[in-house]
Order: sequence, then C-alpha cells, then structure tokens
Amino acid sequence: MSGHTRTLTDTLDRPLRDLRISVTDRCNFRCTYCMPRAVFGAGHRFLGNDQLLNFEEIERLARVFASYGVRKIRLTGGEPLVRRELETLVEKLALLPGIEDISLTTNGSLLTRDKAKALRRAGLRRITISLDALDDATFMAINDVDFPVSRVLQAIENAADAGLSPVKINMVVKRGGNEHSILPMARFFHGTGHVLRFIEYMDVGNSNGWRHAEVLPAADVAARINAELPIEPIDANYAGEVARRWRYLDGGGELGIITSVTQPFCRSCTRSRLSAQGMLYTCLFATRGHDFRSLLREGASDEQLARHIESIWGRRADRYSELRSAHALPMPKVEMSYIGG
Ligand code: SAM
Repeated sequence: MSGHTRTLTDTLDRPLRDLRISVTDRCNFRCTYCMPRAVFGAGHRFLGNDQLLNFEEIERLARVFASYGVRKIRLTGGEPLVRRELETLVEKLALLPGIEDISLTTNGSLLTRDKAKALRRAGLRRITISLDALDDATFMAINDVDFPVSRVLQAIENAADAGLSPVKINMVVKRGGNEHSILPMARFFHGTGHVLRFIEYMDVGNSNGWRHAEVLPAADVAARINAELPIEPIDANYAGEVARRWRYLDGGGELGIITSVTQPFCRSCTRSRLSAQGMLYTCLFATRGHDFRSLLREGASDEQLARHIESIWGRRADRYSELRSAHALPMPKVEMSYIGG
C-alpha cells in the first residue's frame, strides 16, 4: 500500500475522515433504549468469536481507510471493553500512518485504573464514558443490570488519572425518562474539566420502540441549563463536529449538545462504521452494509479492499436524519449495539 493519501468524496462532496469500529456486539448492560432485555435476553444469539474481525483484520482495514484520508478512529460496540486485550488493538491502530486520533466510547464498567493506564500507554488519547443519570434509581432502571453510578464515576476518575483527556460524558436524554437528571449532571460536571454532552434520543435500530414524543430537543436542554448556569454557544472545533458546543459564562468549562434529531448534521458527516463482523455502513441509520470480512478471508489484496471502499464511498448519498425530519421514516435499521454508537 503506498504511503500517500488518496482523496475520496461521496455524491454530496463529503470526504471520508472518520472510522468507527465496533469491536463486539456484546454488552454487559441492558440499557432499555439500546439493548432491551426483551430483545437481547437469554435467547439472543450474539456473534461467535470466529465471526468477529480479529485485531489483524481490523488493523489491515484501518490502514487502507487511513490511505483514503481517515484520521480519526473511535472504538465502540456493544461494550468495547468486554473485548479482551483491547489495548493491543489500540496499540496497532495508533501506529498506523495518518491516524491522528483514537478514542473509545464505553460504559466505564470495566475501566479499572490499570485498564485506563494500559489503554493510555497503548496510544488512546481521549475517552467518552456514557452516564445517563446521577441517581442510582434512574441509572439502574436504565442499565437494567443494577450497575451503580458510583462505579461509573470511579471509571471517569480512573480515565482522568491515566491522562486520557478530555474525558467526555455522554448522557442520552429521554423525555419523561431521565430529563430530571439534566441539571444534576450539569452541576456535577461543571468545573471538573470533563465535557458533558447531552444527546437527543435517536431512532436507531428497531428494538427500542422510539417515539418522537420522547425526544427532548437540544434547545430545551440548553434553556434548562442556562436558567441556572448561564451558557453561551462557542465555535465548533472543526468542520463536521457533531456536538454543538457551549461554555459556562462563569468559566466552569464546556458542554456539548448533540442535535441529531432536531438539527441533523448529515451535510458534514464524514463518518463510516465498521460492524464487529466486518460490515461497512456509511450511515448510523443504514439498512444495509458491505461485507469486508468475506473479502478479507477470501484473500483480497489491499488494492482490492481499497477499490471496494472507493466504490462504496463514491456512491454514498445517505442523509437519513435530514429526511427523517421531513417525514417519519419507518424503515428497518441496524441495531446500534451491532453497528456501534
Ligand atoms: N457500550 C458503550 C457505551 O455505553 O458507551 C458504547 C456503545 S453505546 C451504543 C454508544 C453510545 O450510544 C452510548 O452513549 C449510548 O447511550 C448511545 N445510544 C444508544 N442508543 C441511543 C439512542 N437511541 N439515541 C441516542 N444515543 C444512543
């Protein structure tokens, strides 16, 4: 594979810049809006080990993606830390030419001090930890495995102590669910240097029974915070950043609000997603993926992999969230735990 970067844009002139890699479809939580027990219970068949891409396969694909201008990699799942020795994968990816940024989205349950340090040593720079409430009653009702808030807070501390920076905290807001946690979460992370991000509840997958009425618009979230802790919008860090950035006027730091439903950002979406079994998706809401595992296991050359990426991205026209805003779209979609959040 030659060292230079090839330029690749889709039909809406969007370059390929980010690769999100789901390393497993398994999770140790059963969040009601993501992997509800009724669907992902004892009867659910998760992927077997040989169905998952191995680290060498992931590394090889990532290298080809990097040759097309991918600069950022995010590891996700499922719960990525249930995949053993994830730091070994991080280490491989961190060494790839062109990759400038590697991050990880996790529920924090397995992020011990040692794990955080090992990930940092391997080349992980930053981390996003999901936490949807600050009180155990609400949080446990969501995660559905009785996991206490205190252990996620410990994970956040472990991450910061290991030098992962910034630590971002993702809170999915569901109207009538955890909206009462917005202010407690804002107060708690205000002044800590961690970046709290509120995410509009999205209609990913088919199993969460999403209803538009359960979306609390980003503008409402901002207004509620502003009423107690005044905030002002600030510029995006870079084109295509998904979170609208805000800062506290009193110097208490920054927060983000991800407006996937009320103000979609498809126009600037540069993300591709690789599922745990090697299917490539060009949209979180995609209905079909492209099988790279078969290509890899049938002995495709780097050049063949490259041409496949080129033809897929070259035809990409996805803008699901924009279309959804215009009309509700009852389409079968891939589960988030499978494609990676
Ligand atoms: N298990 C890891 C975690 O908890 O962060 C990584 C995977 S999880 C699918 C990634 C993120 O997607 C989490 O922050 C989760 O809350 C969020 N998420 C899942 N379903 C969502 C939905 N319907 N709308 C918005 N965010 C969602």
